[in-house]
Amino acid sequence: MHELRKSGIRVTIDDHHDPESSSNVAAGMITPITGQRLKPTWRGEELTSHAQATYAELAHDLGVPLWKDWSLVRVFRTEIMRTWFEQRRDRGELDHLAVEALAPGTHSGIEMQHGGFRHAGVATVHMAALLGAMRARYADAFIDTSAPDADVVITCTGTAVLEDPDWSWLPIEPSKGEILDVRIDGDHCDYIRTNGTWILPCGDSMFRIGATHDWDDRDPLPTHAARLQLLEEASKLVAGTITVLGHRAALRPSTTFKRPLVGRHPVHPTLAVCTGLGTKGALQGPWAAHQIVQHLVHAAPLDPEIDIARWWKP
Ligand SMILES: Cc1cc2nc3c(=O)[nH]c(=O)nc-3n(C[C@H](O)[C@H](O)[C@H](O)COP(=O)(O)OP(=O)(O)OC[C@H]3O[C@@H](n4cnc5c(N)ncnc54)[C@H](O)[C@@H]3O)c2cc1C
Repeated sequence: MHELRKSGIRVTIDDHHDPESSSNVAAGMITPITGQRLKPTWRGEELTSHAQATYAELAHDLGVPLWKDWSLVRVFRTEIMRTWFEQRRDRGELDHLAVEALAPGTHSGIEMQHGGFRHAGVATVHMAALLGAMRARYADAFIDTSAPDADVVITCTGTAVLEDPDWSWLPIEPSKGEILDVRIDGDHCDYIRTNGTWILPCGDSMFRIGATHDWDDRDPLPTHAARLQLLEEASKLVAGTITVLGHRAALRPSTTFKRPLVGRHPVHPTLAVCTGLGTKGALQGPWAAHQIVQHLVHAAPLDPEIDIARWWKP
């Protein structure tokens, strides 16, 4: 909506407004490195700078703080992770992240058998606040029905895109994620901790713990198994007792190739789509939205890596 309005386009929105949507449940983290091998995030610097600028515009427009910078402590789960880290550090790949290596031992009460490291360049975006503020500010645009006179309808329905006969051919593979809201008595940590499971501070000894990844379970309800898994891993990163105050789950619109899916329908030119944000909606969402709007409004070519045309088989 923001991108369309910037291009001077009139917009209406038909949204089911699911308070448990992936975006409302998400932690909104943006990280420059990903996974056990600590790979640089795909187009991390370009997309982070685009996202930061877009969220700054939105925060200004809506009067809501959205962006917060963090440092993050990663605990290696295996010895090989330390080797991968040292190789990347020695090649200079992590130079821009103000990295501080942590030798095997105990650091700030966390036992790190294989060591770890602290780095900067991490941010969170308050996704639920953004969506709530957009809905409040542009209430007139939310008409909750399809506009029959629209020039183009852009579908941004997350995993529900698979239920739409026009888009069910897209290679979306929903991944269920679960997240806990907790209190950890006596814990005043002001950085993010992770050993694969992360703990995000929310102030006053409150934290969010996440997130699980399940490609088989399509039921978007919280499970006992995920709660136990999150608590078991998180307990390795904290000294205090964890009290669970909330537990939420949602389906991410993931893809196996881990890129957004954007474009105009190959047969129906009044239909377009923007989805496939997977685990990185906070980072990739602003750029994907910019791509589709520039394409639809100014006929700019789409980035070939995200263009849905590559998946269409007539
Ligand atoms: C536990 C968890 C943690 C996460 N943590 C992070 C994180 O730290 N960082 C990050 O970047 N990403 C994270 N994500 C992923 C992120 O949430 C997604 O990438 C992103 O939210 C996807 O946004 P979306 O708008 O495509 O889909 P959704 O957020 O699912 O939004 C789809 C919207 O479409 C509406 N809708 C569906 N069908 C229809 C219909 N037929 N008509 C009208 N409206 C409809 C829904 O009500 C909903 O409002 C996390 C996800 C989960 C589940």
